[in-house]
Amino acid sequence: MKTIRYLFYICLILFFTSCKQVKTVESFKAMNTFMTVTVFSNNPKKAEQAINGLKIKVNEIEDVFSTTRENSDVYKINNGLEYGFNNEMLKEVLDFSKTIYRKSSGAFNPGMYPIIKEWGFTTEEYKVPSKTKIEELLKYTDFSKVEYSGLPEGMQLDFGAIAKGYAGDKAIEILKECGITSAILDFGGNIQTLGLKSDDSLWKVGIRNPWNNGAACALKVKETAVVTSGGYERFFEDENGNRYIHIFDPETGYPSTSDIESVTIVCPNGMYADALTTSLFVMGTKKAVNFWKENPDFDFVILTKKHELIFSRNLEQSLEPLISFDCIECISAFDL
Ligand code: ADP
Ligand code: MG
Repeated sequence: MKTIRYLFYICLILFFTSCKQVKTVESFKAMNTFMTVTVFSNNPKKAEQAINGLKIKVNEIEDVFSTTRENSDVYKINNGLEYGFNNEMLKEVLDFSKTIYRKSSGAFNPGMYPIIKEWGFTTEEYKVPSKTKIEELLKYTDFSKVEYSGLPEGMQLDFGAIAKGYAGDKAIEILKECGITSAILDFGGNIQTLGLKSDDSLWKVGIRNPWNNGAACALKVKETAVVTSGGYERFFEDENGNRYIHIFDPETGYPSTSDIESVTIVCPNGMYADALTTSLFVMGTKKAVNFWKENPDFDFVILTKKHELIFSRNLEQSLEPLISFDCIECISAFDL
């Protein structure tokens, strides 16, 4: 009888604590984008404190990686105001970037800044540089030459393709340290989740429709990162209607002209996911799929310019197309 009464009280406590999960949402601007943090907790004060801690961390990260803040480590290194890499966060991201640079055969290259600047992507005063100028600047983009001791003459760095993912990982760490067990971050299209939804169900994340408003697919996930890079995010057009996007092909020094409209990476590590979106975008579908077969430690969803939907087999149960595609292909690591 006593045990039954105990069980009854335990159930009652569990019922009330689970009922009291409160949603705290906060949006703010950071790292040149709009960020939204949603935390579920039965202690709203704790949630607020956690979000404040997270915002301080994101600001700290921006202070290191911003290419425009005049006091940032990257700005100082790029402008010869400081020579070596003395910041631990910078070293961590540099090391990781070097690994992805090698793994992706140079498709991911944070040393493209001199060229990206020349095209006007930093100031939005866009122009198509001459072929000679691009060839000249390509000489200063060998990322393998960057060491802790500093940059070779003429080189400049831009970690824009990885810093948001890194910030997402650090933000999740802060939330965990604050005792939060359920949260979802949207850092300018980089989605990162912590735990499950407050009712223990999976998170439903949308993949943006590149051709229209709304979502092209929905994806159900546990705790993970879902990061998308798309050519539609930032671009300009010349008088002939040629589109130049913000993702560059390090081999040519021109904006990528791959067959991909958007690529989404799903894996637990936000920094890895972010670096991979840019890498796979530049590679194009064929090389991207081969890369995945050799490195099957992530999942992907590719939307091609030909309106195809191509994704890795692991996502078969969790991916739901929301628009019609000309072709849907689910790839297994063993497919030839
Ligand atoms: P976003 O940050 O817009 O979501 P990405 O993660 O693909 O998109 O990062 C694109 C940014 O990375 C560009 O704005 C530019 O600063 C930088 N970048 C462009 N091309 C490359 C590349 N091939 N390798 C590494 N960084 C790149
Ligand atoms: Mg990226």
